[in-house]
Amino acid sequence: MQAFQKNSEIFNLLSEGVSEGIIVVNTKQIIVATNSSAGRMFGYEKGELLGKPLDTLIPRRFHGHHGHHVEDFIDKSERRQMGRGRDLHGVRKNGEEFPVEAGLNPFKLYNETYVMALVIDITERKIKERELSHWAKIFDESLNEIYVFDANTLHFVNVNKEAQRNMGYKLEEFKAMKPLDIKPNMDAPQFQLLIEPLLKGKRDKVKFETEHQRKDGSVYPVEVHLQLSTFGENEVIVAIILDITERKNYTEKLEKKVQERTKQLTEALAKEKELNELKTRFLSLVSHEFKTPLSSILTSITLLAKYTESHQQEKRDKHVETIKNKVRYLDTILTDFLSVERLDSGKVNYKIETFPLSKIVNEVVYGANMLLKAGQTIQYPENIDDIFIRFDEKTLELALSNLIHNAIKYSPEDTTISLAVSRVKDTILINVIDCGIGIPEEDQKHIFNRYFRAENALLNQGTGIGLNIAKQHLENLGATIEFTSEENKGSIFTIVIPLENVN
Ligand code: ADP
Repeated sequence: MQAFQKNSEIFNLLSEGVSEGIIVVNTKQIIVATNSSAGRMFGYEKGELLGKPLDTLIPRRFHGHHGHHVEDFIDKSERRQMGRGRDLHGVRKNGEEFPVEAGLNPFKLYNETYVMALVIDITERKIKERELSHWAKIFDESLNEIYVFDANTLHFVNVNKEAQRNMGYKLEEFKAMKPLDIKPNMDAPQFQLLIEPLLKGKRDKVKFETEHQRKDGSVYPVEVHLQLSTFGENEVIVAIILDITERKNYTEKLEKKVQERTKQLTEALAKEKELNELKTRFLSLVSHEFKTPLSSILTSITLLAKYTESHQQEKRDKHVETIKNKVRYLDTILTDFLSVERLDSGKVNYKIETFPLSKIVNEVVYGANMLLKAGQTIQYPENIDDIFIRFDEKTLELALSNLIHNAIKYSPEDTTISLAVSRVKDTILINVIDCGIGIPEEDQKHIFNRYFRAENALLNQGTGIGLNIAKQHLENLGATIEFTSEENKGSIFTIVIPLENVN
């Protein structure tokens, strides 16, 4: 110790000039000299540390351990850096611990061995290191793909784990590649155009959508965020990639849904418009269709009242017949209108039953006989007793009577209306054949439209509803209605019932 003090002036002179803390201990690990850097570092006044054991500067939990190390070191008497591979800590006077790095230099002075420790406070460095490893961890463990590529050569410099995993390339493979190698839908000029604003400092960030291709060839949509950065001396571009498959799917689904809804809305609007038009037409039709028969009923009744004489019975009969006919007609069109209403509001209840076809044919023909014009006859098959139909009886009756009434209405006197039943392939056909006015060719395509009446039919009373509802009802039950017609020659209307409805 004394020997050491002799040289203290020289020691002081030399040691005060360095920024590292210098602590000299003897073999008993007693501090024999410090410089002021060491004092500042550990929070002691000048000279305060002298004579104190080295352990004063070392956190308690390292004491036993540390002593052993130093002894060992003194024995071997070699220079060395302490703290490599493990964290070394110092403790300040106020108990605060801090990370240090220490280099130990043994020397001999007047036959005594000393160790000079050069101590550096590495708090700042540790913070930086921790930050760096934190960022490295974020880079590597990010679930987004992160790529770093050279701003000049465009070669990948680093690629995080998620990118390697998802893309199927190893880091080494990536290093031989450029961003364009994984962008199948982009060419060099396009890419250059995108990164130019970054390189020229015009923009801090560039964002775009494209597709990436994995090593296995599969492609997926991505959103790319590019940012300029530096890596050592080099300018690099950092690319953060978001897999937007889900988002794309969602957007596509959404777009589809919007399209669907728009279509539904447009259709609903069109339907609404059509319904409104129909209603207007319906109202004018009702007023017209009701007015004519009602006024002829009124005329007949007025005349009836005048024929009071008993010999005028024939005239009275004629008017009673007219009134009956007109009332029947009004009843028919009212039924049709109500049927339309029920069809449109979906309030129809069908009752599927098995019944003989002949029953319907007979009933319809019986009803139609009363409407026949002078000289008209109805021919109908009598050998259909073995045909049983599984269907809604009312619907079939409505459709068939509608066809026969039309055949009567649109045929002149002295003609025959034929009803024929045949079996063709897997259907039963019920034909109603007339030799009437027929349907002009240009009107034929509209004939099933509600309220449509052909040009040549306008002299006859009618509403244009019958065929439309007959067809709708039949189709609701799997059957249908067809026709062929030639103007001034006649028409054939056919009800087609699939055989599965036939017993
Ligand atoms: P309506 O007979 O009350 O006008 P329908 O719906 O029964 O209504 O018929 C629609 C249109 O089809 C008729 O107005 C007519 O132009 C035409 N039509 C229907 N059946 C025949 C037929 N047998 N001969 C000629 N035209 C017909």
